[in-house]
Amino acid sequence: MAKRGIIIVAGGSGRRMQSSLPKQFMILGNEPVVARTINTFAEVLPGAEIVVVLPAEHIELWRSLVARFDVAVHKCVAGGKERFDSVKRGIEALSSEVEFIAVHDGVRALVSKKLILRTVLAADEHDAVIPVVNVTDSIRRVEGEESFIVPRSELRAVQTPQVFRAELLRRAYALPYDPRFTDDASVVEMAGGRIALVEGERSNLKLTTPEDMAWAEWWLSQPNN
Ligand code: C5P
Repeated sequence: MAKRGIIIVAGGSGRRMQSSLPKQFMILGNEPVVARTINTFAEVLPGAEIVVVLPAEHIELWRSLVARFDVAVHKCVAGGKERFDSVKRGIEALSSEVEFIAVHDGVRALVSKKLILRTVLAADEHDAVIPVVNVTDSIRRVEGEESFIVPRSELRAVQTPQVFRAELLRRAYALPYDPRFTDDASVVEMAGGRIALVEGERSNLKLTTPEDMAWAEWWLSQPNN
């Protein structure tokens, strides 16, 4: 079986949570947010290399959490200024034997095992795979004082894990940073890659606000989740 690498990016400082503790370290259910994310990937993909990217100033805190909670084996590296820089450091920390790389936002701790498998298996056939969901809000594009409706049926919201053939992702991340890079697919596309879509999950949200955390606690309390 192909050797896989997983990069869990949690290098952001998470100011929107209005809390001194960044959201990726908050306790959700019975473990820190990032620990849950790591453990879910480790269960689905045993033998994969896992790299976690954290803010440099929180690596000590993370080590103390790892000592207190059960967290699957992983490497830990310091993040950079932009998400782009953090992913790049994650790529550099993986061994050259890795043939496929999954990149996942550490704060998407409710990702299901099924979704991880769906994206990883699809990447065996397509070189670059991302999960997407339909957009349920109406969307307007704003231009100065004017605004225009955008056809909702043409839009998809993009999630992670995003899975790529390692050689393609490495080549893409050799590009210089561009502010239009909002996720890994945008970087890969700029390097000439073609992106395949799979169905994402509405529950796979980026835990960003205190309300998100409260909803996530409720979600985990439901049977089967
Ligand atoms: O909010 P944003 O979409 O930029 O964050 C997505 C993920 O990227 C989060 O898990 C965040 O911690 C991570 N990130 C990072 N390094 C940065 C900025 C964001 O690892 N410099």
